[in-house]
Amino acid sequence: MKISTANIPEKGLALQFSKSEDWLRKMLPEKGKAGFSVDRIDGQCSVTKIGETVSVKGNITAGINLECCRCLERFTLPIKTVYEYTFLPVEDMPENEEAELTGEDLGLGYYRNDTIDLDPIILEQIVIQVPIRPLCKESCKGLCPVCGINLNVASCNHKQMVFTSPFTALEKLKTYNKEN
Ligand SMILES: [Zn+2]
Ligand SMILES: [Zn+2]
Repeated sequence: MKISTANIPEKGLALQFSKSEDWLRKMLPEKGKAGFSVDRIDGQCSVTKIGETVSVKGNITAGINLECCRCLERFTLPIKTVYEYTFLPVEDMPENEEAELTGEDLGLGYYRNDTIDLDPIILEQIVIQVPIRPLCKESCKGLCPVCGINLNVASCNHKQMVFTSPFTALEKLKTYNKEN
């Protein structure tokens, strides 16, 4: 989704957008590594231009499909993010700066050929919301390490072992050594 900076009216632009899983797949060809998919991304932004400085503000709501790191069940994490970026013409970029056009730090970016591409911004906003260790819920009980049953929906006789602390195990070992 590209904005032509030459055509931004004085009162600014208001844009709405929706993105799908297909879009994500195009943006992240190695999606397998990303470990998530989206069911839908909706967002809006307002674009204003003062002189050559373009500011882009908006929000995004999305549902991120993830796998719980404890119980391995798929779940959808709803997210809502607010973003704000400032873009300057690439000619204004300091000489020593790497050609980083998405403005990752400080929300500062540069545009060339009167064009700002919003897709990398949308992607960045989604990616930073993806937890490193996704949990379907804080209290997720995970899988039984012995039989693999999902302890959120069922129970098994191994349950005790899951909650045995390493200290208890050590105690047992000590007792065992004494006895022998
Ligand atoms: Zn879980
Ligand atoms: Zn079990």
